[in-house]
Amino acid sequence: MASMTLNYGKYLESNRNAPKLLRKAVEFRRRFIDPVADEIDKKMLHDPHFHPHGIVVRGCEYGLLTLPVPSFMGGGDAKVLDSAIVLEELCAGCAGIANIFGAHYLGLSCVLVGLALHQFDTIVRELVEKEKQGEPVIFSAAVTEPMAGTDVEDGDLLRTARLMTFAKKVKGGFVLNGTKVFISNGSVAQYNLVTCATDRNYPVQTWSSFVVPAGTKGFSADKVELKMGMRACHAAQLVFEDCFIPDEYEVGAGGTSADLTEVVLAASRPPVGAIATGIARGAYEKILNFCRTRRSGSGKLVDRQWVQMALADMYSMIQLARQIYLHAAYVFDSQIMAPLMGNRIVTDTAMKLFSPARRTRHGLKLTASSTFRKAMYGFVQNKIDAEDRDFSLAMSSMAKFSCSDLAVQVCLKALEIMGPEGAQERNSIEKSLRDVKLTQIYEGTNQLNRYELYKKHIKGAISE
Ligand SMILES: Cc1cc2nc3c(=O)[nH]c(=O)nc-3n(C[C@H](O)[C@H](O)[C@H](O)COP(=O)(O)OP(=O)(O)OC[C@H]3O[C@@H](n4cnc5c(N)ncnc54)[C@H](O)[C@@H]3O)c2cc1C
Repeated sequence: MASMTLNYGKYLESNRNAPKLLRKAVEFRRRFIDPVADEIDKKMLHDPHFHPHGIVVRGCEYGLLTLPVPSFMGGGDAKVLDSAIVLEELCAGCAGIANIFGAHYLGLSCVLVGLALHQFDTIVRELVEKEKQGEPVIFSAAVTEPMAGTDVEDGDLLRTARLMTFAKKVKGGFVLNGTKVFISNGSVAQYNLVTCATDRNYPVQTWSSFVVPAGTKGFSADKVELKMGMRACHAAQLVFEDCFIPDEYEVGAGGTSADLTEVVLAASRPPVGAIATGIARGAYEKILNFCRTRRSGSGKLVDRQWVQMALADMYSMIQLARQIYLHAAYVFDSQIMAPLMGNRIVTDTAMKLFSPARRTRHGLKLTASSTFRKAMYGFVQNKIDAEDRDFSLAMSSMAKFSCSDLAVQVCLKALEIMGPEGAQERNSIEKSLRDVKLTQIYEGTNQLNRYELYKKHIKGAISE
């Protein structure tokens, strides 16, 4: 049932890593997600602070925490396409559990895309080392604020956003004050990637990201939302009260996060499309089983023609969604990631060769310096063609909104076929619907993503 007889087509074949990662994801889902998904969802309703930590620990055995970390650092070397395929599979089991990994990849990708070498050699290295010992190091990405959600996901809207969180430059670092809300993993993450302005008059020009480790003085993440779906993954409120963060925890060169965020979103939206597709596939698998076993008149439900047509609709919508997110992931990997990584043999060798020197006290001081970080940012900017970046972001936005819209339709159809039984908790189709709705909201609402597709692609084509 894993691939649902749908295939991943040329995209899977073109990726050396993907079949192996998919097999692992299928096994992980079967062993650790399917047996507990519904039980954990119910438990979270009564105890939103419960965290399924044991499953995340199991994820270490499968290399799930280090999936997108490059191989020269000992990670899974997954491209965006690989991570998306893995997330689709995990979400077919439970989107709440899968989102713990998805939100972790989002935080981690801020560090990876920012090419913050000193952070590669400290916190990413810690993640890799601890995973080997079965100790998960979890990341989160915090952008949304109480009065600014959509506005902080788009460079143009950011200019007029009602921001409440700021980082003030002081000697040796920054002092953060404010609040971030609805942050997936925020209450359980060891490292929170917090994005905010350093000057309220120039939010775009000073949009910056910081690593805030759990336990930092002046930082707390105690409030966890009781939300409709994806309950296994905490959404927390992060509060900063005169929270001092040293300079070396700044990501990238100061004030460049509006640019970097676009690259991160281009990478993270195809996997959100995959998350939605996975939830839809999970609902389809459940309904197929229901139709095969449920009697209707003298035959089975699946013998009814209207059911067969509804199943055909669901199947085609899932296949369509999968092709859209695979295409967007492929565009990112080939047009953004490949030029950034250059010749892999050369890059891997150089990164490995200089790793011991980078990790010395002087090495870390050099790579953490603002001059070095600015040089790395310049390198990233040079390697990424502006048109390619816009196209990739447009395709990613399209994947995000169309996959989630299609997936909602699939889950509604599943509920329709099941009739009143679908509304009952024990059939868990209602869980699919509660989970899938959220994919239309986070990572930029679907309205915003439609606007991004227009702005980054359609508008240019019209004016040509
Ligand atoms: C399950 C879940 C997990 C999340 N995880 C994270 C996370 O890990 N990190 C994080 O930073 N955030 C996270 N979020 C927050 C999420 O990114 C925001 O909810 C989202 O960006 C929308 O922002 P908002 O809630 O402030 O809504 P608003 O921005 O207030 O939007 C309300 C409505 O108005 C519409 N709207 C607003 N502006 C416009 C416009 N200019 N044009 C057209 N329509 C508009 C929106 O589309 C929406 O329908 C999460 C949210 C959920 C539900």
